[in-house]
Amino acid sequence: MGKITGFLEYERVDEPYITVEKRLENYKEFTIPLEEKKLKDQGARCMDCGIPFCHSGCPLGNLIPDFNDKVYKGRWKEAAQILHSTNNFPEFTGRLCPAPCEEACVLGINEDPVSIENIEKNIVEKAFEEGWITAHPPKTRTDKKVAVIGSGPAGLAAAQQLNRAGHLVTVFERDAKVGGLLRYGIPDFKLEKQIIDRRVAVLEEEGIQFTTNAHVGQNISVETIKADFDAVVLCGGATERRGIPIKGNHLKGVHQAMDFLKLNNQHVDGLIDFDAILSAKDKNVIVIGGGDTGSDCIGTSNRHGAKSVTNFEILNKPSVGRPAHQPWPYWPMRLKTTSSHQEGVERFFSVSTKEFLGDKNGNLIGLKTVEVEWIFKEGQRPELRELPNSEKQWECDMVLLALGFTGSEKTLAEQFGLEMDFRTNIKATTTDYATNVPGIFSAGDMRRGQSLIVWAISEGRQAAYHVDTYLMGTSNLPLKDDNDLPRI
Ligand SMILES: Cc1cc2nc3c(=O)[nH]c(=O)nc-3n(C[C@H](O)[C@H](O)[C@H](O)COP(=O)(O)OP(=O)(O)OC[C@H]3O[C@@H](n4cnc5c(N)ncnc54)[C@H](O)[C@@H]3O)c2cc1C
Ligand code: SF4
Repeated sequence: MGKITGFLEYERVDEPYITVEKRLENYKEFTIPLEEKKLKDQGARCMDCGIPFCHSGCPLGNLIPDFNDKVYKGRWKEAAQILHSTNNFPEFTGRLCPAPCEEACVLGINEDPVSIENIEKNIVEKAFEEGWITAHPPKTRTDKKVAVIGSGPAGLAAAQQLNRAGHLVTVFERDAKVGGLLRYGIPDFKLEKQIIDRRVAVLEEEGIQFTTNAHVGQNISVETIKADFDAVVLCGGATERRGIPIKGNHLKGVHQAMDFLKLNNQHVDGLIDFDAILSAKDKNVIVIGGGDTGSDCIGTSNRHGAKSVTNFEILNKPSVGRPAHQPWPYWPMRLKTTSSHQEGVERFFSVSTKEFLGDKNGNLIGLKTVEVEWIFKEGQRPELRELPNSEKQWECDMVLLALGFTGSEKTLAEQFGLEMDFRTNIKATTTDYATNVPGIFSAGDMRRGQSLIVWAISEGRQAAYHVDTYLMGTSNLPLKDDNDLPRI
């Protein structure tokens, strides 16, 4: 716990942002760190509630009151050790997690919850700054070799855990750089890429090998992987993008959000020129889809200098406060207004796109929508109804489809002979993360479907325990709620 009366004395304070005008000038992160005294006060707000619901709110089971207490007392190194005992990469979650822990915080019942995510970010940043995060190669090696396919947060977490167990781990990544969606989906203004490089350097020093431009199933055969490794962890993500099967979806100007974001991130990384990206400059942009990906497209379009940015969401507009049917400590569906939304966008809810309109040269010039309503009936799937006479036409020269992902790509499953579930994810349960083929495991979005970074790290850690058990008959790696290995 923090200070016994801390929650009565201090209000929640979040990191402020630099002005919209300034932050639109580049792709850098734009939060202004709190001074140390203020951070300690935030730690002090943790209130010795008895049963810390935040533990179960966090998919990693982070020991939140314990590190809050250390922050309050200025014992940052111990805070960092506690944090790293459950989370391999708090620098990612401390920036990007939607923080279900904060929705489960007991103080949140009638006050603003403890600012857990920001405390987490500051602990890990201090730890890097002070040089406390160093490589810990295993003291002894087993003679086992593990291939991890995919270098997103699930693959990186699985790799670090398995390396700690002494196995020789090689991570195969088809892209030119490591990081998965952290690298090529999420824009730099949410996560600057040197944050990934800094951590990957530690993993390399610990002995993990990274092989990039290595597309397993294409330029590296599944047979080679099976012959060379004792176990395989598939962490390839849920990369099948959802399309929109309506008239005009082939027009020039209709793009998948992931193409737009990936090219932009490559440009920001200096790998390609601005001419080679999908530019929103001087365009009327419509982003279809109201989630994280849609929000990232809005922030990126505004940095390109779009003429206007509009966002459609097919679902109803959520309430600002916690809805009555999602009481504390559950995750509530509330209206989320991100920093990208604040930078300039007009948002419309309960809107369905019916048709894209083009000119005679096949260029997008607009689209048609209708308003919809959702009918909810007990025990049935919600039904979507179009409202009569609600058709509307919109002018636009660029549409970004941010409609989510339908599952993982089938190629790896087919080539390894793996079963998939009804949502086209790799079939493996959380009992042991094992697929139907002995020695082949799966974790992260590839197993659970599109999700969150915190879940990917959690799954990577859990899967590593089961892979280690498969290889050695037993494992000393920690499982969730079993945190005997504080280390950074
Ligand atoms: C635009 C966007 C923004 C997001 N923002 C957030 C956010 O703010 N907060 C949050 O918590 N979550 C966010 N998410 C979700 C989050 O990024 C994912 O849930 C998470 O990255 C999943 O991790 P993963 O390791 O399972 O897969 P991924 O990160 O998808 O990584 C999979 C990797 O596997 C590689 N791969 C696939 N097949 C092969 C193969 N055959 N051979 C070699 N390599 C292969 C891919 O190239 C990729 O690098 C966002 C997602 C998107 C798309
Ligand atoms: S990882 Fe996410 S849920 Fe867990 S403590 Fe950090 S912010 Fe909260």
